[in-house]
Amino acid sequence: MLEPQTVAAGHAAAETHGNVRGIRHVDLTDVQLASSETARRINRDIVLELIRTSQPISRADLARRSGLQRSTVSQIVEQLIGEKWVREGSIASAPRGRRPTLVGLNEDLVAIAVDIHPRQAIVAVVDLNGRLLSRAQVPLTSDPAASTRMMIESMQRMHHTVPKKSTEGIGISLPGRVDPTTQRLTFAPNLHWPDFDLKKVIETKMRLPVKMENAATACLLAELTFARMDGVRDAVLVTVSEGVGTGVFANGQLISGHHGLAGEFGHIPIDPAGPRCACGQSGCWETFASCRAAVRYYRELQPKARAVAFPELLNLAEEGNLPAAQALAKQATWIGRGLRMIIAALSPSTILIAGDVTSAWHRFGPIIEKEAAELTLAGNPPLIRPTHESEIARLRGAAALVFQRRTLLEQPVPQDAALRDASPDTLEAQPA
Ligand SMILES: [Zn+2]
Repeated sequence: MLEPQTVAAGHAAAETHGNVRGIRHVDLTDVQLASSETARRINRDIVLELIRTSQPISRADLARRSGLQRSTVSQIVEQLIGEKWVREGSIASAPRGRRPTLVGLNEDLVAIAVDIHPRQAIVAVVDLNGRLLSRAQVPLTSDPAASTRMMIESMQRMHHTVPKKSTEGIGISLPGRVDPTTQRLTFAPNLHWPDFDLKKVIETKMRLPVKMENAATACLLAELTFARMDGVRDAVLVTVSEGVGTGVFANGQLISGHHGLAGEFGHIPIDPAGPRCACGQSGCWETFASCRAAVRYYRELQPKARAVAFPELLNLAEEGNLPAAQALAKQATWIGRGLRMIIAALSPSTILIAGDVTSAWHRFGPIIEKEAAELTLAGNPPLIRPTHESEIARLRGAAALVFQRRTLLEQPVPQDAALRDASPDTLEAQPA
């Protein structure tokens, strides 16, 4: 049996906007009646989130901060310890009386994170706090079977380097879109892999569950999981690398769309006379704003200079090379112009930028902000900020797929259904 406060707290957490009177649209194709099980799940998520953000923390503090009863908190903590998400650690100092044992996330719980790029993959072990424990680089070819074999060998080696840790699963971030139903790649124009069941092959060999997601969505999930983004309900993350990808968090939900293809702003043509894109169209946003585009701009300005890769271009600009600086400024301008599509379409409060460009944010930030601000239709422009080092962001994203809080990827709990299931006591306990 759930005590009334339990349901009330769960309800308050699920309901972020105002009152519950009036008609609310409920999608009848996917009705899930709220049960005591749902309330328990919400309360579990609340306690886990409080532990994550305030660790190490005592059970008494968890009860105070969640508004849940002490006995409920203890039950949930025991469950989380049993599930290996949480463990008991240090003893708090107290002026008098019994000193409480503090709980924190279990750092012995790890995920294998794989970040796939068109020519290479990074394989890493990441713990529940988002810390990178080890890392290796694997070259990839256009043959998905051979490439996957090499990734699996690397994962097996890495798995053996952490014998005392418990591996929860494998998270893979990809330069493409994954169908949420079939878990197969539906669109990866820069990867050039024929249809291949990556998930099945890796799961069979590694005997661990595999979760796959587009790199931009995975990065956004990492920010939502490991960074402080409380209160943000509308955010877009843009990865700028070989291509341009976006992950969309709208009205408090990650958006995947039909066949997982939502958010392909990088493939909206912004100049039909522009260069040919890997997707088959011409003049897509990514043909102007990607790191490849910056290298192309440099070549146009310096036709006789030797070929350079993007990181070199960044170095040249820092050394005072004017054409390199101009090429990067042009790329920044196009990143900013493309953001206007995103601002007009989704009106996010925050736009996060991930990728190598963030290491030269003093160069990119001001130009991107200026371009984006010119299309703010009303109110304040969105906050535009870089994410942490791009490689770590993508690896943490892959790990977050394994550790994700279920609520982020699931439908919100139907609140009117929660009321229907509640006892009269519970109704009285509802906040007004
Ligand atoms: Zn395209």
